[in-house]
Amino acid sequence: MIPRKLSLLLSVFLLAVPAFAQQQNASKPKPRVIVVGVNGMELDIIRPLLLKGLMPNLSSVIDKGAYGKLRTVSAPNCPRVYSTLFTSTNPEEHGVTGFIVGGITANTNMLKEEPVWSMLSKSGITVGMANVPATFPVMPVNGYMISGMLTRGKNCEDGVLCAPKLSEVMGGDAVYPKSLQPELLKNVGDFYIDCERMPGAGDLKGHEAEFIDKWLGKVQVIRDQQTKLFDYLLTTHPTEFTFLAQSCEDRTGHWLYPITPFNAGYNASINNFRQNAFPDQYVAFDKVLGSILKHVDENTYLIIFSDHGIKPLREFEEKDPHAHMDHEKTTPVIAKHDFADGDDVPGSFFAMGPGIKHDLRLMGLGASVYDVAPTLLHIYGIEQPKQMRGRILTEIFENADNKVAAKQ
Ligand SMILES: [Zn+2]
Repeated sequence: MIPRKLSLLLSVFLLAVPAFAQQQNASKPKPRVIVVGVNGMELDIIRPLLLKGLMPNLSSVIDKGAYGKLRTVSAPNCPRVYSTLFTSTNPEEHGVTGFIVGGITANTNMLKEEPVWSMLSKSGITVGMANVPATFPVMPVNGYMISGMLTRGKNCEDGVLCAPKLSEVMGGDAVYPKSLQPELLKNVGDFYIDCERMPGAGDLKGHEAEFIDKWLGKVQVIRDQQTKLFDYLLTTHPTEFTFLAQSCEDRTGHWLYPITPFNAGYNASINNFRQNAFPDQYVAFDKVLGSILKHVDENTYLIIFSDHGIKPLREFEEKDPHAHMDHEKTTPVIAKHDFADGDDVPGSFFAMGPGIKHDLRLMGLGASVYDVAPTLLHIYGIEQPKQMRGRILTEIFENADNKVAAKQ
């Protein structure tokens, strides 16, 4: 099932890792990087929270680093953008064009270009990944990988926007290496791998307040489990490159974005209730970030990014019967991100670490999801492969030339 090109890459990589790892162990320590993906983080929502002082941890990252908008792809959704970010190639090239590709739920076997974690593994960098979208079934790395959004399981047979527990995963491995799974079940518990599916319009009708509270309660349970998982991994299995992701924020935004009566899709019984539900997700994320920051010292790079933003429906969606439903499901949707023009819903990018400029604002849409993988490779002194379409974000470094020179 794995395309020939990639299976070749993977087998080469598996043979190569031990030798590389031994060789590298003797040399000087490699950079440590933690990447945190927050799905659909919307700057319009974040900025008032920053002003109110409700996101102290993200504020500290902004003060100590570089931040701005992150240009995304057209019609952005998680698997499409994450796979673009992994490979720095466009969706048609890497093959993961959306949630469903050719009638099949997107999965790692579809990936036609080499992802950055494979390149890092091959170079002897230890890699740890948890809950990153579109990483199911997991792939071998020089470390560990726990899958995220699009993991298939009991009551989540298609893997699309539902929450299987680790013990309920079906149709592939959610944990690499396999031996890590019993360890996680014992020490972290049987956690949910992805965020809860949004309720359908039929279920909601007449029980709106009850459903919203119940759903938000489950989201918090999932976030608490994720926080425990991240903390366990960072403490017990530290790696040179760590990539963690959260997905509940985006899903909350789709149906609980704080809108007003003139917005398309407004329904008083849903949208008058828990107006802070969506902003509250970022306040909660900031606490998760706080627990991650405990593992970040002055020699660690921290990169936080979102794959796209999310905006309320607009005038041109009003007449579109599909606009009010998202992800092919039946939830009443009042905000979305898969606009044809991805520039309508840019993601965001925050970086801090050794040699990264302080308090730097990135203007316009100069930084893009294509640039993240080349920039990561640059930090490790690995040359950017030809197929990558992005560029190194040299503007965020104090002295980009020195960084490049350091790799010789
Ligand atoms: Zn979404």
